Formats: sequence, structure tokens, C-alpha cells
Amino acid sequence: MLNEQYSFFHNVERSFDKAAEFTKWDKGLLEQIKACNSVYRMRFPVKMDDGRIEVIEAYRVQHSQHKSPCKGGIRFSEAVDQDEVMALASLMTYKCAIVNVPFGGAKGGIKINPRNYSTYELEKITRRYTSELVKKNFIGPGIDVPAPDYGTGEREMAWIVDTYASLKPGEIDAAGCVTGKPVSQGGVRGRKEATGLGVFYGVREVCNMAGRMKKLGLTPGVKGKKVVVQGLGNVGYHSAKFFREHGSIVIAIAEYEGAIYNANGLNEEEVFQHRKATGSILNFPGATNIEKSTDALELECDILIPAALENVINGSNADRIKAKIIGEAANGPLTPEADVILNKKSTLIVPDMYLNAGGVTVSYFEWLKNLSHVRYGRLEKRFTENMNSHILTQMESLTGKTVSDAERKFIMHGAEEVDLVHSGLEETMITATQEIIAIWDKNPEIPDMRTAAYVCAINKVATSYNELGIFP
Ligand code: GLU
Repeated sequence: MLNEQYSFFHNVERSFDKAAEFTKWDKGLLEQIKACNSVYRMRFPVKMDDGRIEVIEAYRVQHSQHKSPCKGGIRFSEAVDQDEVMALASLMTYKCAIVNVPFGGAKGGIKINPRNYSTYELEKITRRYTSELVKKNFIGPGIDVPAPDYGTGEREMAWIVDTYASLKPGEIDAAGCVTGKPVSQGGVRGRKEATGLGVFYGVREVCNMAGRMKKLGLTPGVKGKKVVVQGLGNVGYHSAKFFREHGSIVIAIAEYEGAIYNANGLNEEEVFQHRKATGSILNFPGATNIEKSTDALELECDILIPAALENVINGSNADRIKAKIIGEAANGPLTPEADVILNKKSTLIVPDMYLNAGGVTVSYFEWLKNLSHVRYGRLEKRFTENMNSHILTQMESLTGKTVSDAERKFIMHGAEEVDLVHSGLEETMITATQEIIAIWDKNPEIPDMRTAAYVCAINKVATSYNELGIFP
């Protein structure tokens, strides 16, 4: 049963409707864009290690087919229900549109806590889920392409591609049926850190806008900014890493067992190793414990990065949030009530549906790699290096001067796969940020950046529908 009052999907619809007011599209077209096209709810039995049979509840929602394939992650979480998967699938449509990734939105979910299952049980659940998707034509490189999400990673994606390929012998593009795979199984270099790096690029771009920063009473740039990160999973870890590497000070990191604080900054890798060794983020050397994890959200800081689950900032804590900028790395970390309260305080909320698009952007690069059957950089890397070497030698002989070894190495370097992926991601996030801000600047009536992002998404999806025409 969907609970309308707390419906995440309904919250997405509310944000959509608010933004639709600033567009001139036909009402029916807007209704079509909002609707989830297909919802597949499944139940299947899996035999556990102790011989018991458990009935697993799972979903795949395809929100929009205005572009093919549909795209979106699969999450393993006890909180999974139809409403959540529908909301997340619709966010995928808008996210892809904003960053010009030519996919429709989709999302999948399996209602389990992966910690309660052995690796073998998880493998059986994942493979069975995949074969259910194959049976109903809900997966394929040109149909619907899953990826990692909360509670899943490379390992699950490897099981998915293997199951798919074995059920579809001879399908030459089978590797493109899922993204976020290990590099050895057709993955692309740079996918793992992509969401966190995209979050960093997006927030950095906003921070580089002097006018916006002045309004917040901040100086431009990310250097020296105090950052709080909630969640030390893949997205939180990499967001923290890139902010730290670019001179920000990560003063607190929160996980569900508690949070830690150090005004001089935390190193996410050391914290990660400490948590791995002790089973908890607490008692990290040199840091102060914050027993109640959510208290970390309320710390004095410049940038707050919620990188865990939805609804963590809501009507009950929003007025205590002190951050000037909130970068929504997770999907839906703020409720609409929190949005209202924080917008009144003029907090700049950099919205989830584009800020965390780094994952799907690099998934797009992975999918292209799978369809082209060639690694990025394979054709041009040596050519570039030979050319650069030639130019450098000519310049040195013409000037009679020589560059240092370090400079030589840097200038000579031909782009490898990871360089191209990072560069494509940087370009994508900068362009998307600028497009959204331009919409916001052009229409001062638009109340916040989330609404501007929705307007951007609606315009792109509606244009695409208009170009397609409606099938009779
Ligand atoms: N799960 C990620 C997201 O929510 C990635 C999706 C993808 O790569 O398709 O954006």
C-alpha cells in the first residue's frame, strides 16, 4: 500500500508541479512526463543456505521511454517499496535529461538487507532477479540497463551481466545490459568514483560563481571551505576525498552508528580503514565522537553533503541546519518541508537529481564502450604521445632550452581511459550547472535551484516528446 502522506513519489510529483508552473507545456504532456510508464512488481522464491525457502519481494520501474534504453540503479534495502522505486525511477528521467544523457529513467529494488545474507545467497537472489527481468523483457542494452545503487556494487553487476549473457547466447552487445561492472567484465575505468567526483565538480562550479557566493556571505572557490559528509559509502567516501584533495576541510563524517568531528579535517581513507578494523566510525584517533549521528548534520559548516538515504533532513531538523550550501549527493535527502524551511534561510540547495548524475553519466560512457567494443584511448593514446614528443623536441631544439622531467612527463601524456572519463564527467557537470543557473538567473520568480533544475529537465523531456510526436 502506498502511504500518500509520506509518499516519496508524491514528493517528486509536488516538486515537478511546482516547476511546471514556470513552463508553457501542454497539461497532458506534463502528465505523461510525470507518470511511471511500467511498474513490474515481482516475488520469487530463493533457497537459503540453511535449506529454508524465502520469498523475495522486488521491483523494476521504467518511468519513461522518451529515450531508449531506460537507465537506473538497483538497490538492496529493507526500505524498498513500490513508492520508493517509482520516485527514484522518475528522478532518473529528470537526471538524465539535465546532463544530456540520452536515456529514459528507471530504477530497481530488492527488499532485503544484504548484511543478513551470505555471498552465495546474494548471488542467487541477484541472478534470479535478473532472469525475472529477462523473462519480461525488462533488461537489455537497448531496453533497460541497470547499474549499482544503495547496497549494490560491481560484484552484483558482474552477476547480472553473466546471467543475462548466458540467457541470451550470441547477443554481441550483451555487456551493455548493465553498467557499473568490474573493468575485467566490460566496466569502464572511473565509474567507481564517478558519483562522488560529479558531486564535487557540481558543487565546485557553484562555489566558483562569485555572485552566488557573495549572497551567501562566502568567498568563491572550494579551498578552505568546511565540509560535513553524511555517509561513508561509495558516494560519501569519494565526495569527501575530492573535497579534501582540492583544499576543503572535511570537519565531520557521519555513519549510522555515530559521527566524528575534527576541526582540522579528517582523511576519509584513514576513517574508512579505522571503521573496517573496529567495526565503527567512532573513537577515531584525534576526533571527537558525536553519538547521535544526525547531530552531525546540524554542525556549523559551509557545505553539507548528505550522501546516505532519503528524507534525512526534514521538518523536524531543517531549522537547525547551519550549512550555507547543501550538496544533495543522495537521492531525496531533503523533504519538501525541509526545502521550504531552508529556502527561507537562503541556504543554497544543489539538487540531487543533477548533482548525483555523475554515476549515470559515466554509466553512459561505459555503455558506449560496450557497444563500440573498444577501450577509450586505445586508438589515440600513442599517437598523441608521439606527436607531443615531436613538438617538444622541436621546441627544445629551436629554443636551446629543455623542460624538466616532470613537465616532460605531463606534456607527453596521451589520454588514457580514466582521463577521458573524468574529463567527460567534468564537462558534463559544469555544463549542467551552468544551464540550471542560467534558467534561474533568467527567471527571478523561480524560488530555488531545485525548481530551476526541474524546469531544465521538463523542457528537455517535453522537447523530446514533441519531436517524437505521440504514437496514435
Ligand atoms: N544509481 C545511480 C543513480 O541513482 C546510477 C544509475 C546508473 O548508472 O544508471 O544515479
